[in-house]
Amino acid sequence: MLRLLVLLALVGAAVALLRTVLRPRRRADAAAPVRVLACEHCGVFVPDPDVVRADGHVYCSEAHRQAARVKRDA
Ligand SMILES: [Zn+2]
Repeated sequence: MLRLLVLLALVGAAVALLRTVLRPRRRADAAAPVRVLACEHCGVFVPDPDVVRADGHVYCSEAHRQAARVKRDA
């Protein structure tokens, strides 16, 4: 009888260990926020990796970078 109890305890411990090891983990980068920046010409918000940068300014597109330059030079 004691052997059966020890065996059941070992099986229970093994199952608990396996459930801990096999539990799916959340990906750390799945919820990572993406920074958004405002276009200095039109004000639309653009994800940081997609902005067009020029001379320390950020724009939503190449067209707005050029438009801002024309406006600045005028
Ligand atoms: Zn823009």
